[in-house]
Amino acid sequence: MMGSHVWHPFTQHALEPVIPEIVLTEGAYLHKADGTRILDAISSWWVVTHGHRHPRIMKAIEATASSLDQIIFAGFTHEPAEQLARALVGLAPSGLDWVFYSDSGSTSVEVALKMALGYFRNIGAPRSRIAVMEHSYHGDTIGTMSVGARSVFNAAYEPLLFEVDTIPFPAAGREQETLDRFEAVARDRRVAALIVEPLVLGAGGMLMYPASILTELKRIAEASGTLLIADEVMTGWGRTGTMFACEQASVSPDILCTSKGLTGGAIPLAATLATDAIFQAHYSEDRKKTFFHSSSYTANPIACAAALANVEIWQDEPVAERIATLSGMQVAGLQRFRDNPYFTDCRSMGTIAALDLRADSAGYLAEIGPKLRAFFLDRGLLIRPLGNVLYLMPPYCITGGELDGLYDAIEEAGARFGSRP
Ligand SMILES: *Cc1c(COP(=O)(O)O)cnc(C)c1O
Repeated sequence: MMGSHVWHPFTQHALEPVIPEIVLTEGAYLHKADGTRILDAISSWWVVTHGHRHPRIMKAIEATASSLDQIIFAGFTHEPAEQLARALVGLAPSGLDWVFYSDSGSTSVEVALKMALGYFRNIGAPRSRIAVMEHSYHGDTIGTMSVGARSVFNAAYEPLLFEVDTIPFPAAGREQETLDRFEAVARDRRVAALIVEPLVLGAGGMLMYPASILTELKRIAEASGTLLIADEVMTGWGRTGTMFACEQASVSPDILCTSKGLTGGAIPLAATLATDAIFQAHYSEDRKKTFFHSSSYTANPIACAAALANVEIWQDEPVAERIATLSGMQVAGLQRFRDNPYFTDCRSMGTIAALDLRADSAGYLAEIGPKLRAFFLDRGLLIRPLGNVLYLMPPYCITGGELDGLYDAIEEAGARFGSRP
């Protein structure tokens, strides 16, 4: 756009002088000002679940805006927040009885970390360290970068990041190392919580690990009195095939973070769910034990209404069936790459499919990333590789035909940009 004053996220403006303008969103598509449309194969950075502008969510937003805008949430409440909290407690793994609202995934994680530290301080047995999994991503604020992987994304801010205990990613064949390391780290009871992305590490390269490892991590956490924080910001709302990924491991975490798909991806909202034990540690006539956190836009009523509409869509529409169908299509779609010399590590978890392109240079900053992005955009497809990792995380309304087209383009990209082993 001529004369833009906008500084875009994760954008090197010197290398991307032209930024397309979107004027309409609908289902799986973004419509450009020039009348062409782009297939949104990454759900606008993992937020859109059912499809863009689901009518029911849009209607809830309009209806609520006629009676409520933001209201202060300290000392006041409103029906959309109350109803949504009841719904979330019903949908989440058992034992998560309290819902704390905020407005982004990063904030929901910050809240989780503060709850964990507050819990141990308030019960009079302070613990001050956080354990994390290698290659994790939990957000872009200083606290969430601290518990995420150190990389080019946060090198400039490294001096401000706090120290953590890192356990290895449970790569196939090395799962025991992960469990042993966590056991060692948890043993001296200085670690307040282990924070994990359950089953799929998103920004770290769509790395996947089996549910049984999550089950084991929870067992070790319990044995040492360490809290387990499940960052379901990306994995929640059906992405991995179940409502929450933790379900597949039969794990009830002590704290669960949800955001992206919470409103179906329509409008910002986040929630951090916690057990009664964590709430009770803050419940006191001693004001010092108050949970001192608030965002200005906490529990925005319009956003809560959008989330409630999302919950109703899950109840009234065959969402689980759509997810099962999409998951099956992803498995089938990857099948044709098994013998393709340009790709390795074809993998899927529910609605998410990923594969690595063999390239001379890998990593997020590799030249291949922007080239691939431009290649797909030329074909009207929004695919945004993580370095040489190609993935599809489409909205659940995508059709088999559209998905086939995406896989055709990926195959073509392999032949064009890949290197043989
Ligand atoms: C996207 C993401 C976040 C951060 O959410 P924002 O809304 O971008 O702040 C945190 N954790 C995970 C696992 C994510 O994928």
